[in-house]
Amino acid sequence: MALNHHSSLAVLLLALAAACAATDFDFFYLVQQWPGSYCDTEAGCCFPGDEKPAADFGIHGLWPNYAACRPDAATPNRTSCWPDFCNATDTLNLSLIKGMEADLRRSWGTLSCKSKDATDFWSHEWSRHGTCSGMGQHAYFRSALDLKARLDLTGALLDAGIVPSDEAEYCLGRVRAAVAAATGGAAPMLECNRSARNETQLYQVYVCVDPDGRTLVHCPLPAQRGCTDMIKFPPF
Ligand code: AMP
Repeated sequence: MALNHHSSLAVLLLALAAACAATDFDFFYLVQQWPGSYCDTEAGCCFPGDEKPAADFGIHGLWPNYAACRPDAATPNRTSCWPDFCNATDTLNLSLIKGMEADLRRSWGTLSCKSKDATDFWSHEWSRHGTCSGMGQHAYFRSALDLKARLDLTGALLDAGIVPSDEAEYCLGRVRAAVAAATGGAAPMLECNRSARNETQLYQVYVCVDPDGRTLVHCPLPAQRGCTDMIKFPPF
């Protein structure tokens, strides 16, 4: 009897450990990128087939993250703020995401001039971040597409009068409020980069998502990276 109790406890603990390992992170960042700001840089951009995509935010990735950086288990004296490359043998298998390919090309396209093949971008994102998500490949890419479809960032910015422009400058707080209107109030993180003319511009919007891959949550601090009080939103 005692042995039975012990063995059921051991099974329960093993199951809990496996469940924790599968989602050993605090939240996801869904990172979306404004193509105008990717392209308006020294490096510039390229499109597959030289077909310019729509002027809409595109997915960069769905990234498991820790709420606070922690000592890196693998490398002493280093901290890690997110898990990455969690399973080197689990590489992208296009047959698992076949039905989503057209949607992915539209919503998660490549702008890189080094590789004009979007599958290289998805493959990197899966290996680095997806393998740490606790999801299979189909569920991971489906979650990112569904989240993006629910969050019309481009529409929310336009509704707030934040329109792409070479001249206008927008108050960072106003951009944050416009994004929060699209997330139902959940606070985002904004990232800016520098244009070829060295102007600060809205580059990426990070929306925070519960490890369930669906529920939007407030992003922990910091609220922005690389931005100034007034920022550009360049045309694409
Ligand atoms: P990560 O390692 O997930 O932080 O993503 C960074 C990598 O994604 C870099 O190699 C970037 O060049 C690449 N990247 C970012 N945005 C794009 C994009 N729109 N198209 C293709 N590659 C991109």
